[in-house]
Amino acid sequence: MDIQATNIPAVDDSGPDAANLELPPDAGVQHCLQLLVDAGLRPTRQRLALGRLLFLRGHRHVTAESLFEEAMAANAYLSLATVYNTLNQFTEAGLLRRIAADGIKSFFDTDTSVHPHFYLEGEDMLVDVAEGLAFTRIPEALPGHEIARLDVIVHLRRKRT
Ligand SMILES: [Zn+2]
Repeated sequence: MDIQATNIPAVDDSGPDAANLELPPDAGVQHCLQLLVDAGLRPTRQRLALGRLLFLRGHRHVTAESLFEEAMAANAYLSLATVYNTLNQFTEAGLLRRIAADGIKSFFDTDTSVHPHFYLEGEDMLVDVAEGLAFTRIPEALPGHEIARLDVIVHLRRKRT
């Protein structure tokens, strides 16, 4: 772990747009900062701004686009590319789980445990399946391989009336 990282203040007033990202020194920010440090990530201004949106609001499923819009609404002026890169860094650090629902767009889940999802095709939304889904039988991995992950996404569409 990078010990020095813990000394980096939550508010970095050296940047040109730091005034837009004033982080009050509340418990949530502290929690977020600790989360990043524990995951081996330097708590940069961008990571803290996005971390606050991701990790202080319960279990969430976001896309780069939806988080980008939230960041804009929160006056955290970050580029979509920065949001995307940060989501990937969070995923690599184990803070998020990436779920590819429709082949193009990835969702990022703040619950990194294995759990099944409903994908609402019309609404382009990912939600957790409420009841636990028990697997009584999963396939053996091919020789020389192991199962790295198991994703279950049940695609839903509105019934035609
Ligand atoms: Zn989920």
